[in-house]
Amino acid sequence: MKKIRLGRTNLMVTRTSFGALPIQRVPEKEAIKILRHAYDSGINFYDTANMYTDSEEKIGKAFTPTMRSNVIISTKSGGTDYKTVKKHLDNSLVKINTDYIDILQLHNPTELPDPDSNDSSYKALIDAKKEGKIRFIGITNHKLHIANLALDSGLYDTLQFPFNYLSTEAEFELVQKSSDLDIGFIAMKALSGGLLKNSRACALFFRQNPTAVPIYGIQSMEELNEWLSLENQAIEMTPELEHTIAVDKRELSGNFCRSCGYCMPCAVGIEIKTAARMDMLLRRSPFRPLLSDDNYNMMMKINDCINCGLCKTRCPYELDVPNLLKRMLEDYKEFYELNK
Ligand code: SF4
Ligand code: SF4
Repeated sequence: MKKIRLGRTNLMVTRTSFGALPIQRVPEKEAIKILRHAYDSGINFYDTANMYTDSEEKIGKAFTPTMRSNVIISTKSGGTDYKTVKKHLDNSLVKINTDYIDILQLHNPTELPDPDSNDSSYKALIDAKKEGKIRFIGITNHKLHIANLALDSGLYDTLQFPFNYLSTEAEFELVQKSSDLDIGFIAMKALSGGLLKNSRACALFFRQNPTAVPIYGIQSMEELNEWLSLENQAIEMTPELEHTIAVDKRELSGNFCRSCGYCMPCAVGIEIKTAARMDMLLRRSPFRPLLSDDNYNMMMKINDCINCGLCKTRCPYELDVPNLLKRMLEDYKEFYELNK
């Protein structure tokens, strides 16, 4: 399988890599089967996080100690102080059943930690590296200015950031800057959180941007086999693919909910990361299941919004979430009446 050098880490990772967030939703036996099939097929890079419930444990169970040296594992800690990051790392080592993590990433910090403070999350990473518990230091983010600051700081070996063919010019510049600085670029949201449906178009995009390593979120054998089959094909731009990409760009440009979930929990329990993009889900997926009683009730919960503004302050895309939700509710009601 073709590999990409992940910047100054010099790690050679497969250009089709594995995002292990979705295997949380898969029963353990099946998750292990999927991970082993990925391994047997040559995928060598697996990205997880301590906050992805049992994702780390499933990885730990799938890859036996003899397989460990053949895989590169990145995980994340959302800790913002020394003690928490060290605690998260020790938990990750136990769950993944390993004595080292290849890349430990600070998980979406709202600001960069002070590298000189003895209490900081960054100092925890430095010490963990000295102790041999981690090999490289990474950071993930959804905010462009923080991602740029992280690159400028020179303190991180890798940056993980959303990147796909809907990305803006400034985001393409970020990828270029990362490459110029020899910092590994890990692309999350390669399918924009499931809104991009054409895997061939997505795979082609990464062939055209080969310094970015996509970690495709995989939750079934079928999805895995689709990526594996694309891996072995030459992918050319065709008029059909051009059309799909143009339609996606037109329909999904601008400010839309990426379903990252950083705005949650909502003060009154609204399922924001689904509700805030209901218009796109209704028009880009089979819509019948979205009109079920459960989904209807989920959408009606928007009426309970107390306008506390919490979600708005947390959204890394600076969306006006309460108003977006109100728009989604109106759209949903109209769609429901027409199609139920
Ligand atoms: S503003 Fe509304 S949707 Fe946002 S957190 Fe508060 S109650 Fe929830
Ligand atoms: S509203 Fe913002 S923070 Fe919440 S899921 Fe959507 S993009 Fe993420």
